[in-house]
Amino acid sequence: MNLRSQFPILNTQVHGHPLVYLDNAATTQKPLRVIEALDSYYRTLNSNIHRGAHHLAAEATERYEDVRRQVQSFINARHSHEIVFTRGTTESINLVASSFSKRYFTGDDEVIVSGMEHHSDIVPWQLTGATLRPIPFSDEGVLDLEAYERLFSPKTRIVAVNHVSNTLGTVNPVVDIVRIAHAHGVPVLIDGAQSVSHLKVDVQAIGCDFYCFSGHKMYGPMGVGIMYGREELLNELPPYQGGGEMIENVTFERTTYNQLPFKFEAGTPSVGDVIGLGEAVNFMQEVGVDNIAAHEDDLLRFATDGLSRIPGARIFGTAPHKTTVLSFLIGDAHPYDVGTLLDQLGIAVRTGHHCTQPIMDRYGIPGTVRASFAVYNTREEVETFLAALERIMPMLQ
Ligand code: PMP
Repeated sequence: MNLRSQFPILNTQVHGHPLVYLDNAATTQKPLRVIEALDSYYRTLNSNIHRGAHHLAAEATERYEDVRRQVQSFINARHSHEIVFTRGTTESINLVASSFSKRYFTGDDEVIVSGMEHHSDIVPWQLTGATLRPIPFSDEGVLDLEAYERLFSPKTRIVAVNHVSNTLGTVNPVVDIVRIAHAHGVPVLIDGAQSVSHLKVDVQAIGCDFYCFSGHKMYGPMGVGIMYGREELLNELPPYQGGGEMIENVTFERTTYNQLPFKFEAGTPSVGDVIGLGEAVNFMQEVGVDNIAAHEDDLLRFATDGLSRIPGARIFGTAPHKTTVLSFLIGDAHPYDVGTLLDQLGIAVRTGHHCTQPIMDRYGIPGTVRASFAVYNTREEVETFLAALERIMPMLQ
């Protein structure tokens, strides 16, 4: 699958070596069509949306709302007004945590999360004052669904879990997680930051109540994300932020709110980034999400096989159903040293706790080295990465 020419940044040289970019779980690179959409927006279309009477405002509004419909169909939401544009997954989860807790929390509340959540799906819930009940997971990185069932209590208000773990790569059984929660009358938020770029996501088939993700992890621009919520629930929730656009009528005594989705989109949104995101969705649909997944799974298997043969390598996250993330340690070497030495050879990986400190505590390690793959990576790059690991081994003793 030769898509590399569409990604200009992949031609970069790093310390005299061709860049091998394996930090895709942090952010993916952008194809030309996304870069050009941003450029073209600011050259020819820039205007504030929804309120201007003039041509540019009308055109920008139309393009912005087109992307909302595009995202609706991409994740198979029932209505386009169930798609709310935010700054990213973090803001989407903060929005839900803030509004949902104001509406439904009583002061003695529990939130079930998984033990492998990103800090973005832990801290917003802690800010509500709720007690978190984490679902334990096995050494392989598989959630214990029986233990999950036992966590429900009359105080459980919501379940919030990731679809794919950014540290272990586990694809969590979200359909089962939702079914069990709904049997207890509890809604579910899915953190989809790591899944939308790798799996076909169908929010109606999953049955979740909220689904949150970021544009920049799916070949789109930074600064834009999505909060999908079921219409009935969104109508129940109070606004998250106050300001322009989210209102229907304002007086000093009383304000009434706009309809969905505008109730949750206060102020000027990042219009150009939303339009760029539309191009990212076009890119993914043209390549085909199934093709992307198959290619990345092949790279993951190939890299896992190669890494397993390196003496002293320990892989974290070996669930049978996993995708695109390879977390590991080499002997007693500090992950930061491994990352720095790989960088000297042009290879970009991430090191540290990956915003998942509870996972590190679970394994009793300070962090891992994480390689993560995208559609433009190749087997040759994986070979370069494995050869580089062999090469730096003597420096790690
Ligand atoms: N959840 C998961 C699983 C993630 O991997 C990330 C990004 N590392 C986030 C949430 C937060 O995403 P963002 O920084 O784009 O808001």
